[in-house]
Amino acid sequence: MLPGRTESMKTIQDVLVKPAGPDCNMACTYCFYLDKQDLFQESSVHRMSDAVLEALVRQVMSQAGQQVVFGWQGGEPTLMGLDFFKRAVALQQRYGRGQSVGNGLQTNGLLLDATWSSFLSEYSFLVGLSLDGPEHIHDRYRRTSGGKGTWATVTDKAKLLQDAGVAVNALSVVNSYSVQFAEEIYVHHKQAGFDFMQFIPCVETDPAEPTRAASFSVSSEAYGSFLCQLFDLWLNDFVDGKPTTSIRMFESIFHSYVGQVPPDCGLRKQCGDYLVVEHNGDLFSCDFFVEPEWKLGNVLENNLSAVLNSEQQTAFGCLKSKLPGPCETCEWLQYCTGGCTKDRIRDPRDQGLNHFCSAYQTFFKHADPHFHLLAEQWRLREAEGRASAMRTQMEQTGVKVGRNDPCPCGSGRQFKKCCSSLRSAGQN
Ligand code: SF4
Ligand code: SF4
Repeated sequence: MLPGRTESMKTIQDVLVKPAGPDCNMACTYCFYLDKQDLFQESSVHRMSDAVLEALVRQVMSQAGQQVVFGWQGGEPTLMGLDFFKRAVALQQRYGRGQSVGNGLQTNGLLLDATWSSFLSEYSFLVGLSLDGPEHIHDRYRRTSGGKGTWATVTDKAKLLQDAGVAVNALSVVNSYSVQFAEEIYVHHKQAGFDFMQFIPCVETDPAEPTRAASFSVSSEAYGSFLCQLFDLWLNDFVDGKPTTSIRMFESIFHSYVGQVPPDCGLRKQCGDYLVVEHNGDLFSCDFFVEPEWKLGNVLENNLSAVLNSEQQTAFGCLKSKLPGPCETCEWLQYCTGGCTKDRIRDPRDQGLNHFCSAYQTFFKHADPHFHLLAEQWRLREAEGRASAMRTQMEQTGVKVGRNDPCPCGSGRQFKKCCSSLRSAGQN
């Protein structure tokens, strides 16, 4: 069962909000969201009103469980101006019921300044900064509408955020060009102080020729090699068996190897666990499915929990588990889960199989033994931690356990073969 889900009901725990709709102050070649202007033609400028913001925050805070995350995205959400986010935080405080609230801001960084940075730091926003790598890689596709490169500005803004103590993740699109430079990108990010990295493979339908993927999309073969190189770089940086850089995809996959639900929706069996809220309050199934077919309602008219649990959203979530034939017999299915639904339909030549299928096969073949070893080490550390906590408790309470007695941790094994032996192993 996924977190936040009872047998029959999902709880609101994650909303992805697009306060400026598809509006953006950049014109990246590979952007999939700029075209969404066509869906909101009533105006050429799209901004969330205070009424929509208040209705959204009030509903989320009154219906969410103990933890909730607002992800502010776009388009470019900073086009709303800082005062909008100050109002959002004030509303979260007004309508909160003692919950822990997280805010994530995904931005191209261009509008950030010292005032933004101190606000983001004060309210512990986690910033996902779009940065594809060093200048020749970033500026390949991430340009202004006038064709100007943005790398120099974005890296200046990154420094501003880091100096203010803001937690910043580098979000990098892996495209037909950048895929050749796994090591250069990894080293660039590390040197720029980004220990948290997220890589998003790009596949979009070619608007001029809808029977194939656009030329900036990354091929599966190249992406497979990129992932293997990146994995080796990540692994080489481990110290004392633990990673020193965080790569979201690898950490997410690791969750599956230790029997936990991965945080990345693309690696779960089903999706549909969050909602997208557009600037006008319209609700959609997923960032990649802001389409009339997957419009679920509006925050001014509908109850968010009801929408999240609606038949339509459940049907959307189930699309992911309708797997094409090759996935059903695939040895990597338990970890790959067939990948993101969107990646199965952007290039019609894939015929319903994930565009990155061969990349995943190459990657899992390469990384699987390492993941198993890491999982084994993790389990041992966890068991040692539990044993140590139990021994401390026994010392504090004066409880004595014989070597042949059942272990008090409840494993059913004898103490000498369970937590006692972990102590010996740890001491040796
Ligand atoms: S379609 Fe992809 S991105 Fe959207 S919720 Fe499903 S797995 Fe996640
Ligand atoms: S590797 Fe390919 S065949 Fe296997 S589960 Fe993933 S997408 Fe399906």
